[in-house]
Amino acid sequence: MRVIGTAGHVDHGKSTLVQALTGINPDRLKEEQEREMTIDLGFAWMKLPSGIEVSIVDVPGHEDFIKNMLAGVGGIDLALFVVAADEGVMPQTREHLAILDLLQMPAGVVALTKSDLIMDPEWLDLVQEEVRDELRGTVLEKAKIIPVSARSRKGLPELMAELDRLLQIPYARHQTGHPRLPIDRVFSIAGFGTVVTGTLIDGKLHVGQEVEVLPRKLDSRIRGLQTHMAKVEEAFPPTRVAVNLTGVSRDQLERGDVITTKGWLEPTSQIDARLGLLKSIPKPLAHNTSVDFYVGTSQCQARVRLLDKKDPPASRWGEEAWWTRFHSGGTGGISPM
Ligand code: GDP
Repeated sequence: MRVIGTAGHVDHGKSTLVQALTGINPDRLKEEQEREMTIDLGFAWMKLPSGIEVSIVDVPGHEDFIKNMLAGVGGIDLALFVVAADEGVMPQTREHLAILDLLQMPAGVVALTKSDLIMDPEWLDLVQEEVRDELRGTVLEKAKIIPVSARSRKGLPELMAELDRLLQIPYARHQTGHPRLPIDRVFSIAGFGTVVTGTLIDGKLHVGQEVEVLPRKLDSRIRGLQTHMAKVEEAFPPTRVAVNLTGVSRDQLERGDVITTKGWLEPTSQIDARLGLLKSIPKPLAHNTSVDFYVGTSQCQARVRLLDKKDPPASRWGEEAWWTRFHSGGTGGISPM
């Protein structure tokens, strides 16, 4: 099982493309259906021609919902990067590309959507060139750009084939062997109780397992597991899972919490990190700057303490790097004991 994440500017056709590929409408909230905009994470799944089963996390493209994009994009194997052929590169195209780059996304493909709106083949070539320029120097530099239309279904078989090809290339994912499930949604279902969803990024979960929910160290047990709406006894990474938990109520949990096993992770309010600044950021980062800190599916306020550089950093990840310490304001990150 593999996980694909969409990325790209709002209204560029991400959700429509996911629906055309999978037959599942990933926009889960009524408000989204009414406004035709993905404001939270949407989920769908499909089987590729080779038989590989994939989950698709459809992330919102609107700038107001960037934190939801960040919550969804962690733990994915492949980016389905969407640019509308009629509009080309837009602000969130750049912003999402920068995030995929920072995350060192292992693979990706660009879907040039709404190609049915373009009558002039030269225009399509121009947009492809514009996108290619934008990708230069990023993790998606070598990604294929495939013109598609969810309306006419043109290009969808080629896109499927490319997803299939990319997901067959093995890559080493860092694994500890312990389960880690950063929670992205929490709800309660009558007759079942507390249910959470997330992308299982490490280890294995099974029905009956004793688990701990961090950072509050809540004891719980797995009553039921589902992947892609089907009951399973065990779940392996990376996959989308829904977990029915006993012993914890919905109010005790929130997005950002992590389901794991006891005794190997300890909540922390400080972490050491290697930090890079995007070229697009106009000002250097000063000592003690307050930042929003995202890890897994959680977000908190943090303060950056520069440890080894007095000079302000000028450039991007890889070119200039140093160690720094975050002080989180709240329940923060989680580090091994
Ligand atoms: P998202 O915000 O990136 O998820 O974009 P949506 O999937 O909600 O699409 C935005 C708008 O573009 C909607 O009105 C869709 O009907 C329209 N749209 C999406 N894909 C296509 C396509 O292939 N062709 C045409 N003509 N319109 C499309």
